[in-house]
Amino acid sequence: MRIAIIADIHANLEALLAALERIHALNVDEIVCLGDIVGYNANPNECVDILRNEKIASMLGNHDACASGLEEPYRFNALARRSVTWTREHLTEENRSFLLDLPREKRAHDFFLFHGSIHDTNRYILSRDDVEDNFQLLAGLPGTLKLGFFGHTHVRTALIDHRGIISLDLSLDLSLSPEKRYLINPGSVGQPRDGDPRASFLVYDRDDHTVLFYRVEYDIKRCQERILQAGLPPQLAERLERGQ
Ligand code: ZN
Repeated sequence: MRIAIIADIHANLEALLAALERIHALNVDEIVCLGDIVGYNANPNECVDILRNEKIASMLGNHDACASGLEEPYRFNALARRSVTWTREHLTEENRSFLLDLPREKRAHDFFLFHGSIHDTNRYILSRDDVEDNFQLLAGLPGTLKLGFFGHTHVRTALIDHRGIISLDLSLDLSLSPEKRYLINPGSVGQPRDGDPRASFLVYDRDDHTVLFYRVEYDIKRCQERILQAGLPPQLAERLERGQ
């Protein structure tokens, strides 16, 4: 069984369509999303509609929580806050209530899905403490899970815990060992921040025990035009071509 994992779409319709086209061509069995369907870019309703129509299970991201009114964007910087305000004004009532109902985290098959950190949607996994805490939380979940997928940083990452020794693997194909535990980030579909502007996602193969990372080009110019036409800050358009 092969599962495509996407995250941080951020209302980027062109990137989502390009990623899904490649994912459909890969003939996966299931697609799941780690949250932040909306925020920053200009097509929140179209992106939510696609996830709803394709029945792609999604976790709640911090932008989804603020855009739907579940949380207030106190911790957001000025750019993110402006995009949340804009998104709140433009989301349909139907899509707002769809976002409100998203789970923050969930076990699926032999892995765990969450947005920022386990039990904390807003916390990043960045520092060594964050990584250690999340491996500990993963171990404390029912069912001895060894694999967790997260988003939020918009940076493709594989963190590995081998008997308390933590390492980072940045290769594009990963063979999972039953001796080790993993926290893996597929990177962002709609606003990558690792210097590569292409949409990022991964495919986890439960039978082969592999994780393959993919990058897909999309029409960045069209997405930038939509941002400017919507009256969103030009910096949000400009950062897309730098992958920042
Ligand atoms: Zn995000």
